[in-house]
Amino acid sequence: MSTERLIVVGGDAAGMSAAAQAKRRNPGLEVVVFERGPHTSYSA
Ligand SMILES: Cc1cc2nc3c(=O)[nH]c(=O)nc-3n(C[C@H](O)[C@H](O)[C@H](O)COP(=O)(O)OP(=O)(O)OC[C@H]3O[C@@H](n4cnc5c(N)ncnc54)[C@H](O)[C@@H]3O)c2cc1C
Repeated sequence: MSTERLIVVGGDAAGMSAAAQAKRRNPGLEVVVFERGPHTSYSA
């Protein structure tokens, strides 16, 4: 069985918004965010 996976590069406003929205629309989707810095946006 294959799992659909979304890779997001960048964990600031745009990246975390996209990741959260994708997960809301498709809870079964595996979402991975790569962020080069030490923090991500938490208000997306
Ligand atoms: C001085 C200043 C003040 C601002 N003040 C406000 C404000 O008061 N209110 C407001 O709403 N907006 C403000 N903005 C605008 C706001 O910061 C941007 O619109 C918003 O941060 C854009 O988010 P983004 O996710 O599109 O891009 P970015 O914030 O640029 O995020 C990109 C992310 O991707 C990461 N990244 C980049 N390359 C890689 C890589 N190769 N691998 C992994 N991670 C990577 C970066 O580390 C970063 O976290 C301000 C902007 C500036 C410059």
